[in-house]
Amino acid sequence: MAFNPINWLLGLFSLDIAIDLGTANTLVLVRGKGIVINEPSWVTIDKKQRLPLSIGLEAKEMLGRTPGNVVVVRPLRDGVISEFDVTRVMLEYFIGRVHEQSVVPLPRPRVVIGIPTGVTEVEKRAVYDAVMAAGARQVFLLEEPIASALGAGLPISETRGSMVVDIGGGTTEVAVMSMSGVVASRSLRVAGDELDQDIIQYLRNKYNLLVGQGIAEKIKMNIGSAYPLPTERTMEVRGRNLVTGLPETVEISSVEVRDALSASVQVIVDTVRDALDEIPPEIVADLMDIGICLAGGGALLQGLAERLSDELNLRVWVAEDPLTCVVRGAGMLFENFDTLGIYIVGLERGSTHHNV
Ligand code: ADP
Ligand code: MG
Repeated sequence: MAFNPINWLLGLFSLDIAIDLGTANTLVLVRGKGIVINEPSWVTIDKKQRLPLSIGLEAKEMLGRTPGNVVVVRPLRDGVISEFDVTRVMLEYFIGRVHEQSVVPLPRPRVVIGIPTGVTEVEKRAVYDAVMAAGARQVFLLEEPIASALGAGLPISETRGSMVVDIGGGTTEVAVMSMSGVVASRSLRVAGDELDQDIIQYLRNKYNLLVGQGIAEKIKMNIGSAYPLPTERTMEVRGRNLVTGLPETVEISSVEVRDALSASVQVIVDTVRDALDEIPPEIVADLMDIGICLAGGGALLQGLAERLSDELNLRVWVAEDPLTCVVRGAGMLFENFDTLGIYIVGLERGSTHHNV
C-alpha cells in the first residue's frame, strides 16, 4: 500500500484495532503495526473474591494445576460470550496492553471485531457492549467468515462465490459467500475441543489412562490426523492409570489417534457436504475453480484438507497462517472502508439488553 502522510499522521493520534475474540484464542491487531497480542482466551479467577488473577497465556498454563480457590474460565462458549464480565475484563486487559505499548497517550480506539454468523441479536449486542465497556470509542462488527475470507485473500467482493470452513476451538463455521455476503452457513459444535475430548476418551477406554486436556491437545497437534500420513508416528503419553491410580507412560501411534478422531472428523466432513448441497450450481462451479478454504487452528490438523478433498471431490486448501486469518481480515476494514464497509453488521435499535 502506498505511503499516505495523512493516514500516518492520523495513526499517531488514534488507534484502530482489530480483535478476533475466539473461544480458544484472542488476537489483537493494531493498524500499521500488525498482530500485537495472540493469547489463549482464558482467565483464572479467585472464587471467593470473584477477581481475575491471570489472563491469557499465564492463565492457560495454570489449567489443571490450580489450587482449590482458583478456577480457570473461558469467557466464550461455542463462539459466543457466556461470561460477560470476564470477557470485558479480558478485553480491557488486552486493550490496555496495546495502550501501554504506545509512547504517547492515545484516545480510546476504534475497534473492529468478528462475530460468528447466525448469532442472535442479544449475542451480537453482548460483543458490542463488552468491547465498548472495555474502552473502545467505536465498535464495528464483522461476520467471522467474511473476515477469514479477506484474511485468506479470497476475492469475496467479486461475483464469484467462495467457501470458508473455519475450525476453531468450540465451533466449526462453514460459510459460502458471494458478493452480497454470506449466502449459506452452518455452525457445528464439533471442533478442536471436541477432538481433544475424543483423545481423552480413547485413552481412557483403551488404556485406562487419564490425561488432561492440555496433553490431549498436544497429542492432537503432534500426531493427530484425518488422513493416512506418509509415515505414521508414535508418541509417549504420560497420565494416571485409572485402575492402579499410579502414573504411567503409554506409547500411542498416529493410527490410533486418527481412529479416535475419525467420528468427529466425519461430522465435520458431513456438515461441509450438507452446506454444499444447499448452494446454487453456479457457485458450485465457482468452487471447482477456487476450491474450499480452511481456516482456524483446526485447519492445521494433518491430512484434513486431503480428507475433505477426497470426500467432496473439490480442491481444499489451508489458508496461509490459518490461526490469524480472522484478525488480519478484520484489520483490512480500516484500510478499505469504502469497499468493505458494506460488510459491517448493524445492531437493531433498542434490542433487549443481555443478562449479565
Ligand atoms: P478459536 O477461533 O475458537 O479461538 P482457533 O482458530 O484459535 O480457535 O483454533 C484453536 C483450535 O485449533 C484449538 O482447538 C487447537 O487445539 C487447534 N489447533 C491449533 N494448532 C493445531 C494443529 N497443529 N493441529 C490440530 N489442531 C490445532
Ligand atoms: Mg476463530
